[in-house]
Amino acid sequence: MTVNLALLDTTFDQCIKCTVCTTYCPVAEVQPDYPGPKQSGPDGERLRMKGTAFYDESLKYCTNCKRCEVACPSGVEIGSIIQKAKARSGQHKPKLRDYILSHTDFMGAVATPVAPIVNAVTKVKPVRRIMAKVLDIDERPVMPEYTRKTFRQWYASECPDQTTYDRQVSYFHGCYVNSNDTSVGRDLVKVLNAMAIGVRLLQKEKCCGVPLIANGFLDKAQSHARLNTEQFANALNDTSECVISTSSSCAMTIRDEYHSLLGVDNRNLSDRIFLFNTFLVKEFEKGNMPELKPVNIKIAYHSPCHLVRVGGVVLTVEILRRIPGVELHMLDRRCCGMAGTYGFKKENYETSQAIAAPLFDEIRSIDPDFVVTDCESCKMQVESATEYSVMHPLSVLARALV
Ligand code: SF4
Ligand code: SF4
Repeated sequence: MTVNLALLDTTFDQCIKCTVCTTYCPVAEVQPDYPGPKQSGPDGERLRMKGTAFYDESLKYCTNCKRCEVACPSGVEIGSIIQKAKARSGQHKPKLRDYILSHTDFMGAVATPVAPIVNAVTKVKPVRRIMAKVLDIDERPVMPEYTRKTFRQWYASECPDQTTYDRQVSYFHGCYVNSNDTSVGRDLVKVLNAMAIGVRLLQKEKCCGVPLIANGFLDKAQSHARLNTEQFANALNDTSECVISTSSSCAMTIRDEYHSLLGVDNRNLSDRIFLFNTFLVKEFEKGNMPELKPVNIKIAYHSPCHLVRVGGVVLTVEILRRIPGVELHMLDRRCCGMAGTYGFKKENYETSQAIAAPLFDEIRSIDPDFVVTDCESCKMQVESATEYSVMHPLSVLARALV
C-alpha cells in the first residue's frame, strides 16, 4: 500500500502523560490485552518513530471511538495516531472478511437487487454458521438487512421535485441509508420540505470511507474522499446552501478526517458540511420550525461516540426536547461497542459485548418505547442484542409533523 503521509501525526508531542485518556477508553476497561490510549497512542508513537520493530500488535483492539480524544486536555489526536500507525505499519493485511465488511458500496450494489433472498438467507442459522466460519465473523450479531429499492431509486421515482423550493441543500446519504435503511433519508426530505427547503442529491457519492479506514483500505478511502470532496464543491458552487449528513460517523469523517487523516484538503468547504442537527437547530433558532403535533412516546437517547467527539450531542437533545409528547431519558454516554464493523469480527465480539453490557442494562432499566441515536452502527448493535427498536432523531421529528 502506498502510505499517504498525512499519516504522520504531529500532536503526540503535546501529551502531558496525565493518563486521563486511559480511564475513558471503553476497550481498556474490558480487554486486558489492550494497554490503552496513552501507551498505544503518544507513548507508542515515540517508539515507533525509532523503528518498525516497536510496532505493537495490540493496536488492533482500538475501535477508533475517539473517546480518548474527547477526554485529552492537550488535544492529542490519539485515535487518529493509532489508525495512522496501523496504516503505516502495513502489518494488518486485510482479509476477505475485511473487504466484505468495508466495501459497503460494492456490497450494496450486489445485494440490493436480490435483497429479499439475501435477507432471508443470512437469517438461516446453518448459513450464518458457515458464513461465520468462512469469513471469520461472529455468528451472533444480526446482519443489517438490505433494501430492494435503494434511497436513490426512491428519490428518483417518488420524491417530489425539490428544485421548486427557493432554498436547497445537498444530502450526503451514505451507504447505509442508500442500501439498508432508507427511512432516515425519506424523513430528512419530509422534515426539510415542511420547513420549505428542498433536498438535492449529489450527482454521485461514495461511502464516506469510515469502514475502509477501520479495515486498512486507506488508499481506497482516500480515493472516496477525493470524489466526495469534488462532489461537495460542485454542489456548493451550484444552488445548494450546504451539504447535510444524517450519520454522525459520516459527518465527522467527511468534515474532519478527510484532511487530518486522509490528506484530502477540504477545509475550504468544511464550514458548509453539517450533520443534520447543526443545520436544524440553526433554522429553529431563526424561527423556521415545522408545525408539530404530540407524539407521546418514551425514548432513551444514546449519544454516539463520534457525535460526542464533535460536540454535537447538545444539538440533537435540543431537537428532541422541542418535539411535543417526547419523554426523553438520556442514556449514560457509553460506547455501544460496535464501532462500525468491529463488533462483527470473531476476535472482537466478546469485547464489543462487554463494552455494551452497561448500556444494554440501562436501556432495559428505562424500558423505553424506542431507543434513539444518530448512528447506524449503534442502531445495529442495540437492535441485534436487545429487544428494543432504534429510531433516528429525524424519524422522531418526522413522526411529529402535522
Ligand atoms: S479511540 Fe477509543 S478504543 Fe481507541 S484508544 Fe481511544 S478510547 Fe480507546
Ligand atoms: S489524556 Fe492526552 S495528555 Fe493525558 S496521557 Fe492521554 S494523550 Fe497524554
